[in-house]
Amino acid sequence: MWVRWFVDSSTLLQSARPVFSFEFFPPKTPQGEVALFRTLHELKPLEPGFVSITYGAGGSERSKTAEWAARIQNEVGLVAMAHLTCVGSTREELRAILQEYARVGVQNIMAVRGDPPKGVRAFQPVAGGFRYASELIAFIRAEFGGTFAVAGGGYPEGHPEAASLEADLQNLQRKVDAGLDFVVTQLFFNNALYFGFVERARRMGITVPIVPGLMPITDLAQIRRFMDMCGASIPGPLLSRLEKAQTPEEVLEIGVEHTTRQAQELLAAGVPGIHLYTLNKSPATRRVMQNLQTVLR
Ligand code: FAD
Repeated sequence: MWVRWFVDSSTLLQSARPVFSFEFFPPKTPQGEVALFRTLHELKPLEPGFVSITYGAGGSERSKTAEWAARIQNEVGLVAMAHLTCVGSTREELRAILQEYARVGVQNIMAVRGDPPKGVRAFQPVAGGFRYASELIAFIRAEFGGTFAVAGGGYPEGHPEAASLEADLQNLQRKVDAGLDFVVTQLFFNNALYFGFVERARRMGITVPIVPGLMPITDLAQIRRFMDMCGASIPGPLLSRLEKAQTPEEVLEIGVEHTTRQAQELLAAGVPGIHLYTLNKSPATRRVMQNLQTVLR
């Protein structure tokens, strides 16, 4: 099944119910696999519109994405979105991966560029590969036509490598022109950044749905590492509350409360959906979703 925007993008923004989606990464250990299955089953009753499964940088991790997307669809019974990056693959290799996605029944792809390896500043495409996500998206469209719904990344605070917010939005426009169906944003903790981003995108003529990506903070050290990688910021008052928390439970409480408030405000503003970065754990996601039930009813 395609995610709804693909089928019905023209009416999305007027549609009654926002689409919730959850993001996971392929586990690296057998224990991680068991835990992910448990998490998926725990989150299934929340009826996400789709769940997405990321694409790792290492060779062995890559084949896991197709495998997990298939298992999510066949064994858990949820619509899967498989991620794909340009890292380390020629176009022939990317074609083979896309063929594998199609073979196992995946119909939704998150097409992103990927990051350079740790310690390397600039992204280097492989010979015969792609430098930008827009090239990957154009390739998917040229080779596979309408086989897949294609999503891509958007950056409310600007992508860390972009020369300016304006230049980054021009890139988003290039991705839409290449065939993107909708955008999922990088995580952010201040809704004003998202609203400003959407407003600038609309002014530029970008009309595809822009789904906010939220992550309930459950571990301060971990979130700091993410911040360094993706360039997102934590508002000062939130950070100081988190720093004063004495226990992991208190951090989780603060994280859930903040994400709930963000989501409530975004839903009230009519966003097309909410994408929750789960880090393969269910408690924070479940709590946020439960808090939102009153808004959604
Ligand atoms: P691009 O859109 O290619 O942009 C990269 C940079 O190049 C930007 O600064 C852009 O402004 C600039 N740029 C683009 N085109 C041009 C041009 N023609 N001229 C000049 N500058 C240009 N990473 C993973 O490894 N695996 C995943 O599964 C994964 N999933 C993600 C899901 C989401 C929703 C998001 C938001 C990110 C995800 N990432 C993932 C991280 C992503 O790979 C990084 O953020 C990466 O640094 C950029 O990817 P992109 O697709 O946005 O790149």
